[in-house]
Amino acid sequence: MKTIGLLGGMSWESTTLYYQLINQGVRQALGGLHSAKIVLYSVDFHEIEQRQHAGDWAGTALMLTDAARRLEAAGADLLLICTNTMHKVAPAVEAATAMPLLHIADATARRLQADGIRRVGLLGTRFTMEQDFYKGRLEQDFGLEVLVPEAAAREQVHRIIYQELCLGETRAASRAQYLDIIGQLKQCGAEAVILGCTEITLLIQQSHTSLPLYDTTAIHAQAAVTAALAG
Ligand code: GLU
Repeated sequence: MKTIGLLGGMSWESTTLYYQLINQGVRQALGGLHSAKIVLYSVDFHEIEQRQHAGDWAGTALMLTDAARRLEAAGADLLLICTNTMHKVAPAVEAATAMPLLHIADATARRLQADGIRRVGLLGTRFTMEQDFYKGRLEQDFGLEVLVPEAAAREQVHRIIYQELCLGETRAASRAQYLDIIGQLKQCGAEAVILGCTEITLLIQQSHTSLPLYDTTAIHAQAAVTAALAG
């Protein structure tokens, strides 16, 4: 079994899910008392979030490349960045070590393709919903048609992530807003919706809507299990 390197803490509310899901996946595959070999580097999310909103992506890249090197030195064989948004600096992080990086958008896109979905809604931070590193990658590398909410709704989705979900708060009113936005994406022709922020699964689950949901946290964790057990 390979050792999985988790670059987490963005936020830790979702990193705990990665830890649980990966261990559950290994136990399911191998049985008994088997569990995953994991090295975790957990950042102070305040330091990352300040730089994100100041547009200092180079600063975040420096912090994450340093963390990735520490994971490699600690014995990790493969790397996960446990957030969709910070895949904005994935190329720099990937180049900093010899470890393969399991890209969260690629793992999700492959799942959508396998299920025959072409037109998909995307919820996440403003950065994820609006920028090429994520939305563009899904479109250009995987031929998906990606629908995002209109500007005011994107703002709501973004605000709820940073001001509630990353603080561990799940509010019924916010769930209702998200479900309303998911309904709008469906009306615009979305065949499914990507929960493209690793905390959204704390608020919205498949039982809340008939539209198929693609939970990036669960998909990314499963990709790690598959890679760790391969060969
Ligand atoms: N965890 C979130 C994501 O998947 C947002 C936190 C962050 O900005 O990294 O995008």
